[in-house]
Amino acid sequence: MQLSQRITNITGGGSDGWDVFYKARKMIADGLDVTELTIGEHDIRTDPTILAAMDKSAQGGHTGYAMVPGTHDMRLAVAQRITERTGVQTTFENILITPGGQAALFAAHLAVCSEGERALYIDPYYATYPGTIRAVGAEPVAIQTHASNAFQPRPEDISEQATKGAASLLINTPNNPTGTVYGRDTLEGVAQVCKEHDLWLISDEVYDTQIWDGAHLSARALPGMADRTLVVGSMSKSHAMTGSRIGWIAAPKEVITHLINLATHTTYGVPGFVQDAAVFALNQGDALEAEIAAPFLRRRALAKDILADQNTIGLIPAQGAMYIMLDIRATGLSGEDFANSLLDTHHIATMPGESFGQSAVGHIRVAMTVDDMKFQSALKTLVGYAEHLANQNAA
Ligand code: PMP
Repeated sequence: MQLSQRITNITGGGSDGWDVFYKARKMIADGLDVTELTIGEHDIRTDPTILAAMDKSAQGGHTGYAMVPGTHDMRLAVAQRITERTGVQTTFENILITPGGQAALFAAHLAVCSEGERALYIDPYYATYPGTIRAVGAEPVAIQTHASNAFQPRPEDISEQATKGAASLLINTPNNPTGTVYGRDTLEGVAQVCKEHDLWLISDEVYDTQIWDGAHLSARALPGMADRTLVVGSMSKSHAMTGSRIGWIAAPKEVITHLINLATHTTYGVPGFVQDAAVFALNQGDALEAEIAAPFLRRRALAKDILADQNTIGLIPAQGAMYIMLDIRATGLSGEDFANSLLDTHHIATMPGESFGQSAVGHIRVAMTVDDMKFQSALKTLVGYAEHLANQNAA
């Protein structure tokens, strides 16, 4: 029996870039003590007060079908949050609640890309991006960025690809995997290109509460952009609710109307008790979000201190998100070879830059997702190992 080309082509035939991750998982299953610095999962669990709200809602009977677009309370809570934080007047009609940011990324691309159209995205990228674009039948086109420029995209590079025709551009700030936060200049340049080439902008802002330098700027807030921007948001990172699978799309009303049709024919909504828990969490305001983000800010300071004392590893200025990106080219190894041998030799698991595209070769991504002592110790070992390899390389 033949499966559809659409589904068999989601990974594009290549490796999914998660080999080191799977190897680390296997080592852990085999009983080895591996320091896991691979994926974006907090080392704390969802706050007990949020779980209590979920329980209260479920016990109170909110276990039936919920409204497909999202409960009115949840859509309102998200709309208010966005209005307050970005200054863009947003109503519940601009919001669709989705089962997580990933489902939002898929729905957003399905809404704006027709079969075979080119969809642009910035490299390095969150690992699912090209597959998500292929899953909607569009053609993923990566736009390279450069470590020397802290991986900020250059508008002229986007323009070059847009000139060849494209339906959409996907950006992500604060960025996974680089920790880069796009500056106002970058975003204004991006907005200009979108307007000139009539592109939809899909703006992945799931790390908007994790900013270490400066402030988060949403591209939707730039002049003329609210009509052509779909913002992807999520409770996963901001509220340590990765397993609850709840996120949203903020977009023009007409786009949301069509997305509701899509949701009716795909997800049929998000569990009501999860949405009630999310409303409770959002109502706690900034303080809870800051508390959840705090460990990453602290560990980023620890990383900066450790890396200040050496010259082998370069730290990409980590302005946001729960990762740091390290330039390990002085070791003479690729990111993939370094990550593999670090795992084999010292049982420390990191992600090779190559897993996130071509722009990050010779780098590794380190998730700051273990306790401070363990993080500090792993980073010191990592630096020592890189120095050892670099000396061998130079000899
Ligand atoms: N976008 C980015 C950049 C991410 O890193 C992630 C999760 N790691 C997602 C979207 C999806 O998150 P979720 O589906 O849990 O909301």
